[in-house]
Amino acid sequence: MKLEQELGRIMRGGYKKNEPMSLHTSWRAGGPADYYLFPADRDELKEIVRFQKRAGLPLFVLGNGTNLLVRDGGIRGLVVHIGEPFSYICREGEMLRAGSGTPLTLLAQRAAEEGLRGLGFAAGIPGSLGGALVMNAGAFGSYIGPLVAEVSIISPGGEQVRLVPEDIVFGYRQSNLSGRGIIVEALLKLEEGDPETLKREVERYHAERRRRHPTLPSAGSVFRNPPGNPAGRLIEAAGGKGLSIGAARVSEKHANFIVNTGGASARDIESLIELIRQRVKDKFGVELETEVRIVGEER
Ligand SMILES: Cc1cc2nc3c(=O)[nH]c(=O)nc-3n(C[C@H](O)[C@H](O)[C@H](O)COP(=O)(O)OP(=O)(O)OC[C@H]3O[C@@H](n4cnc5c(N)ncnc54)[C@H](O)[C@@H]3O)c2cc1C
Repeated sequence: MKLEQELGRIMRGGYKKNEPMSLHTSWRAGGPADYYLFPADRDELKEIVRFQKRAGLPLFVLGNGTNLLVRDGGIRGLVVHIGEPFSYICREGEMLRAGSGTPLTLLAQRAAEEGLRGLGFAAGIPGSLGGALVMNAGAFGSYIGPLVAEVSIISPGGEQVRLVPEDIVFGYRQSNLSGRGIIVEALLKLEEGDPETLKREVERYHAERRRRHPTLPSAGSVFRNPPGNPAGRLIEAAGGKGLSIGAARVSEKHANFIVNTGGASARDIESLIELIRQRVKDKFGVELETEVRIVGEER
């Protein structure tokens, strides 16, 4: 098949056909990607983007898959995984330049070791830097957006483009980086701090997560917090804790987490999301919005 011949030519890093997305999402649910690509470098990424355009195929960018519900029918076209080859960190004065595949936890740890302050909140967030920028990931009152000095993307035209803070708008768990291309690198501005104090801060945040979060597979907080009231509190007050559909269950530990207790389908999870939303709406008149992104097709 011509398409596969061309993919074989482009993909030095490799690709798989009909790859189950349940292997690549933290919820451990989701159907197959038609073509799952793991590029080795930026040049390969540029070629993929140009190929995708020529072939008229949809392209979805995957980081660590920790904020995603992929439906059971899977994703058509290309799924491009930004992983290991895009994981690196270099210090530049009081800034860190890092690849978009760098795990946030690693970045937080390295910043602390370098005596650079500002990334402690990211310790324990299981996403990649690219996913964190798209989502404006945050915790404990801090967000990644304000740290950004520069973001490099591969544009939909297949060119590398450098974005500066004036080009980027960060909001609550969202940014206008979504859909603008594939993020490959970012420069983050930090402040001098004491490495020992910063390492203790990282440890504290890890401990706090262990205390608050369930350990079963999840995608973190399912819903955004509506103004004035954490979503978890509303769900709990609406009797949501412990509700389950199939193998998907609202965590007893944190009501804004849905856990996969073993073999949950994406349909189970999405049905539970709908049920919680309805309960909260009936009880408080509040329409919860998902923070997790729901993608792909129904089976
Ligand atoms: C246990 C647990 C705890 C969590 N705690 C937090 C928390 O405290 N705070 C928080 O904000 N989030 C939290 N999350 C959610 C999640 O980790 C973050 O949203 C994270 O930033 C997502 O990164 P990712 O690499 O997994 O992105 P993915 O889930 O892979 O993708 C998310 C979105 O970003 C896009 N994307 C990913 N990489 C790129 C790229 N390189 N270029 C362009 N687009 C890209 C994808 O297309 C998708 O639209 C938690 C999740 C879990 C499972």
